[in-house]
Amino acid sequence: MSLIEIRNLKKEYSPDVVPLRGVTADIEAGEVISIIGPSGTGKSTLLRCINRLETPTSGQVIVDGVDVCAPGADLAKLRRSMGMVFQSFNLFPHKMAVENIMLPQQSLLGRSAREAYEEAMQQLERVGLADKARRYPDELSGGQKQRVAIARALAMHPQILLFDEPTSALDPTMVSEVLSVIRDLAGTGLTMLLVTHEMRLARHVSNRVFFMKDGEIYEEGSPEQIFENPLREGTRNFIFRIRNWTYTLSPSSRDFHEMNGSLEKFCKDQFLGRRQAMNCQLAVEELAVSFLLPAIERAGQGAFQLTLFAGEEGAERKLMIDCADFPEGKKLLEDLLKNISADSGSGKGSPVLQKAEPEKSREAAKAAEKAEAEGNATIAEKAEAAGNATMAEKAEAAEDAKTAEKAEAEEISGTKTGSMEAASAAILENVLRRLPDEGEDTMVFRIL
Ligand code: ADP
Ligand code: MG
Repeated sequence: MSLIEIRNLKKEYSPDVVPLRGVTADIEAGEVISIIGPSGTGKSTLLRCINRLETPTSGQVIVDGVDVCAPGADLAKLRRSMGMVFQSFNLFPHKMAVENIMLPQQSLLGRSAREAYEEAMQQLERVGLADKARRYPDELSGGQKQRVAIARALAMHPQILLFDEPTSALDPTMVSEVLSVIRDLAGTGLTMLLVTHEMRLARHVSNRVFFMKDGEIYEEGSPEQIFENPLREGTRNFIFRIRNWTYTLSPSSRDFHEMNGSLEKFCKDQFLGRRQAMNCQLAVEELAVSFLLPAIERAGQGAFQLTLFAGEEGAERKLMIDCADFPEGKKLLEDLLKNISADSGSGKGSPVLQKAEPEKSREAAKAAEKAEAEGNATIAEKAEAAGNATMAEKAEAAEDAKTAEKAEAEEISGTKTGSMEAASAAILENVLRRLPDEGEDTMVFRIL
């Protein structure tokens, strides 16, 4: 017998709103299960049916041998064995942190104030907030409030803990403190069901992942299977979307705000470091401003589909530019790449960039200074001013000079076409240089 047996569970609010269409699962004691999937697919409803905050339309939930859906089921007993942590914390605003943790122990377990206080202080210690015991919720940060809510659930010594998107209401800077508390709980024997969009949690903390889609567990498996080798198309599409940032640049893409905003969010979701995230954003923006949008403008039409893939913990990054709808754009980019492939080790379209030698970097810095001193010199001249520095360094020299507009202006006026190519290549190489991280010297850049 499993600790939780879910049998053909259905929940229907109306004929059109059927969040659960028949869920069946067995969950063993001590398992940590992540439930992932698009929004509106019944993840919250499933948790709410398991702890009977919601009454299922049909089917069974059997917890520790007891059918919690049966009429007359002892819901108070169920709630004692099962805690829940909500996205929105649900703390009483007029009670101090420690009181919030004491209350349910007194009302549901009949503990004395003294026992409840001692337990509350132990749990606050466990989540690292013993010094905040006397603070009111509005004196705490979001991450601290959520840790208090977790301490409140733990103080009941539940057998099962349900989490419904415990980090989605948090400012990104506070996500990790909550994740680390949850990570510490895994492996302590507590059975946990985590509805989450934090893929790092799903990937590294759970032993099984349920991918929900349209009111069903569409696919389940080990984290490795779901993230690396999903069997069904719907799962593959979902995993692709969370691993990849995609954006369509077209004649109507004039506002970078939206593009940058979505890329920034993606980098955060992928746990890219600050520098990696900044480099990805600059690379994409420079590419868009310097090459892609001008190409679209010249042609009067066309679109590029940009895809940035971030491997596990951002370890590997690939920037792909799909030109399926824009053959002229593809030719332009390929021509540019030819200009920078002198240092390339690998095949066409995926240059391996050489890291600059230290002395050369100093030269480049000097060149950049010189270029700056020259004030309003053109971009091509600045690139030339870098003298015998490598292409990459030339790009650096050029970089400080608001390259994009200048390059565009020159291109339009048609002057200096010869060195323009070199300058464009330098800018592109500079873009590509942003993709690898310190200590890595390869990147993948593909034009499709
Ligand atoms: P998820 O957590 O996966 O985003 P939910 O379980 O919250 O999805 O919701 C699934 C569907 O059920 C949604 O279409 C939602 O609007 C609907 N739903 C959830 N709760 C209620 C409710 N109390 N009344 C009516 N519809 C609801
Ligand atoms: Mg939900």
